[in-house]
Amino acid sequence: MTAIVDHCKRKITYLRISITDRCNLRCVYCMPANGLGLLEHSDILSYKEILRVIHVSAEMGITKVRVTGGEPLLRRDVCHLLRDILNVPGIRDLGLTTNGVLLKSMARPLWEAGLRRINISLDTLNPLKFRKIARRDHYQEVWEGIREAESVGFNPIRINVVAVKGLNDDELGCFARLSIEKPYSFRFIEYMPMGSMNWDFAKFMSCNEIVEKLKIYGSLHPIPRHCSDGPCRRFRFAGALGEIGLISPISNHFCGTCNRLRLTANGKLRPCLMSDHEVDIMKPLREQCSDGELATLIQEAITKKPKRHEANDGSRQHSMRHMSRIGG
Ligand code: SAM
Ligand code: SF4
Repeated sequence: MTAIVDHCKRKITYLRISITDRCNLRCVYCMPANGLGLLEHSDILSYKEILRVIHVSAEMGITKVRVTGGEPLLRRDVCHLLRDILNVPGIRDLGLTTNGVLLKSMARPLWEAGLRRINISLDTLNPLKFRKIARRDHYQEVWEGIREAESVGFNPIRINVVAVKGLNDDELGCFARLSIEKPYSFRFIEYMPMGSMNWDFAKFMSCNEIVEKLKIYGSLHPIPRHCSDGPCRRFRFAGALGEIGLISPISNHFCGTCNRLRLTANGKLRPCLMSDHEVDIMKPLREQCSDGELATLIQEAITKKPKRHEANDGSRQHSMRHMSRIGG
């Protein structure tokens, strides 16, 4: 197996796959209140097509896959897909990102399918605020899902928090305390400009600002890097059972070490989260392209990977696709 290396000498080993554009929440930074127009089912890649892309990518050097959405647990038979992904030769690491609403009943089947890494998105520890952010009343379900995931054995439980000024920045202390009491890894993600979501710089909070606010609750000790950390910098309060993670795509972009390729639910390979250059593979897949032709398209997407995104220069150039259609 040869590793895929792009024009910036970045080794591409990680494929993130959005398996659906459907979602049962309407997070204010991700989707309009009324949702987005939905793809026809026939315009969404089948599991067979997704697995074919994974097989060919794995032969080219992809070793890690993350399944995301929309909300991936809404798609029927997701556990079958996960089991099949784990059987693809060369895939050594599989993760899933979910909003947790359906996790209570799904945690065990996911575990039994072989999944060991799960990220759950939860931006607030206040049920009323959850309703404001997610525009749905599912706070309790998410917590029941987190507890069930913990009890079936998922460890660590990673909780993704998008930090937005005026929305949840007043809760940093609550997250800090919970990271001390519970073995959860809270990963703060900078709020990114995506799609037509009226991103407001006034609401942007950099990871440096987050750290400064967290330090009020104790000194944060850096945790030595692990190969699965990706762009996340990890810290721990003294004596804490859990961790704090910081992901700074805007204030301190990590484009120089980006190893990712993304596949959207409607079959577009996206070389960069923030740029709309895409390579369509749905049509070729449905026209029975050969594995060699598919590999050439994957290579083309990698060749189009920009040196860096430009969402943080003066132009604030960003993706016109919504996050729910890419998968984060
Ligand atoms: N629905 C699942 C979930 O919410 O975990 C998976 C898909 S969601 C698009 C993946 C991640 O993207 C979530 O952690 C979400 O918080 C994050 N996200 C969505 N919009 C974002 C934005 N504008 N800025 C930063 N993160 C965002
Ligand atoms: Fe749905 Fe995830 Fe977007 Fe929230 S962040 S609306 S849960 S896709």
